[in-house]
Amino acid sequence: MRYHHLMTNRLEFETDCSNNHNQTITISREEFEAALQSDSLVFHCNTCDTNWTPSGEEIAKLRKQFAKNSN
Ligand SMILES: [Zn+2]
Repeated sequence: MRYHHLMTNRLEFETDCSNNHNQTITISREEFEAALQSDSLVFHCNTCDTNWTPSGEEIAKLRKQFAKNSN
């Protein structure tokens, strides 16, 4: 997975949906935290119109990236 830190506090990263379509997802730290708190973090695939929830491992990696970004 590749991560790109964007201006402001948005993080852009690549991930695959359950049908193996590579998607580039952009999320801000606020959106990420709010979604985690309400247990509604869902990614969307534009290719097959599927929604999926990231794994615990993926969430942990995103957390790490956001923590890095805040320095
Ligand atoms: Zn897909």
